[in-house]
Amino acid sequence: MAIERGAVLQLSAGLNGRVIVPDDKDYDEARRVFYGGIDRRPQVIVQAKDPNDVSQVISLARQTGLELAVRSGGHSFAGHSLNEGGIVLDLRELRALQLDPERRTAWAEGGLTTGAYTKAAGELGLATGFGDTGSVGIGGLTLGGGVGILVRKYGLTIDQLLAAEVVTADGQLLRADADTNPDLFWAIRGGGGNFGVVTRFQFRLHPVASVVGGVLILPATPPVIAGFIAAAEAAPEELSTIASIMPAPPMPMVPAEQHGQLVVFALLVYAGEVDAGERAMAPFRKLATPIADMVRPMTYPEIFVPEDGEFHPKAVARTMFVNAIDRSAAEEIVDRLESSDAPVRVAQLRVLGGAMARVPAEATAFAHRASRIMVNLAAFYESPEEWAVREAWVSDFAAALHKGDSGVYVNFLGDAPEAQVRTAYPGSTWDRLSTIKRRYDSTNLFRVNHNILPAQP
Ligand SMILES: Cc1cc2nc3c(=O)[nH]c(=O)nc-3n(C[C@H](O)[C@H](O)[C@H](O)COP(=O)(O)OP(=O)(O)OC[C@H]3O[C@@H](n4cnc5c(N)ncnc54)[C@H](O)[C@@H]3O)c2cc1C
Repeated sequence: MAIERGAVLQLSAGLNGRVIVPDDKDYDEARRVFYGGIDRRPQVIVQAKDPNDVSQVISLARQTGLELAVRSGGHSFAGHSLNEGGIVLDLRELRALQLDPERRTAWAEGGLTTGAYTKAAGELGLATGFGDTGSVGIGGLTLGGGVGILVRKYGLTIDQLLAAEVVTADGQLLRADADTNPDLFWAIRGGGGNFGVVTRFQFRLHPVASVVGGVLILPATPPVIAGFIAAAEAAPEELSTIASIMPAPPMPMVPAEQHGQLVVFALLVYAGEVDAGERAMAPFRKLATPIADMVRPMTYPEIFVPEDGEFHPKAVARTMFVNAIDRSAAEEIVDRLESSDAPVRVAQLRVLGGAMARVPAEATAFAHRASRIMVNLAAFYESPEEWAVREAWVSDFAAALHKGDSGVYVNFLGDAPEAQVRTAYPGSTWDRLSTIKRRYDSTNLFRVNHNILPAQP
């Protein structure tokens, strides 16, 4: 259905934010998302400025029946923040942040990036744990769970969420916390954007003035990979790690003869005292002579490296949890990575546990509390022919590695069928989410996401 020009003018007149249509010169810029190859053309993009704008866009979607996509940081692997021929509600202008260092809490608007939040909080020596990349939005990351580089010390991002303000499908602005609309609060902690548009999140802030952290690059042999995972599991909870096994990028700190060789490109973050942090790094440094060692005391925001805003990779990927990465799994990883000629290919390993694992599985809609290691596999591609080769590679690789844990983390899922989305919500989680979905969005207005269907009456 084509939206009438009159309806667009009427919408514009009632908004504080801006309406962008295909004729506007910044239309292409406004519809660009992080991943390349996602080229969809919405009829209208509304850059909302306040909850009232959000509510009006939701009403328009309800009245017209046009598909509504909600965008925060635009990093959805499935391209869920864009649609073809529908309405995009762009939250990037909703980015106010109020930090309360006395109470150690923060109210952040739903379109803020995790990097902007981390930088501002870091100036006060405070932090909330998000992911490893500053350009990701707090919106999508938080609503899916949030597995970051403080995960073992402070848990998932949702474990640091105190409250949220949500505009639901009927256009109402609701508060959700442990006492007010607790079912909604439970559902948005892992259930994604299925229940409404979060205009503000209230987070707990932790004192994280400095950390011992940075990048450690080791040669990627099977004993080093298995040893890295064993050391990360045995490490104190202050230490969280992300180990990416990949060809060494041509970075200045990597000697030229190592470029393209398989390495363990590890990000380590110890949130605690410097001496204890240095001690915690020792087992990793002993695994092999480091190719590069940039681990040092630093402020927490320094962990986030500057990003290139023009970087829009096309990728095929798989995500899973595994119970262990032993020597034979490490051999599999090395063999599979060596068998591909994709210029960028990676097996990313994140050891979980700690504070994240102490929250009961049924306490939030993210139920994978006992999962031990998250694995993300990816390869970049350019052409459709290359896509088929990379897709087959990543699919075989995933099948070879996958055993013991059937769950997945929704935020690393691509465009998945319902059966796969269900694996993100094991046990009673799916049914509970589906019942709450019926209460807050019975017509499934919010469906451009990893969709949870409303329970049948
Ligand atoms: C380079 C990169 C690094 C990443 N690193 C991590 C990591 O370390 N840890 C981790 O946990 N995840 C990580 N992710 C995954 C990331 O959490 C998800 O892709 C997430 O959905 C992105 O959120 P976004 O707001 O940027 O994306 P968007 O594409 O804008 O949104 C994603 C989904 O959330 C919905 N949504 C967003 N904001 C709102 C809102 N305010 N209200 C309602 N619905 C909303 C959207 O409608 C969409 O369905 C990474 C992704 C990338 C591309």
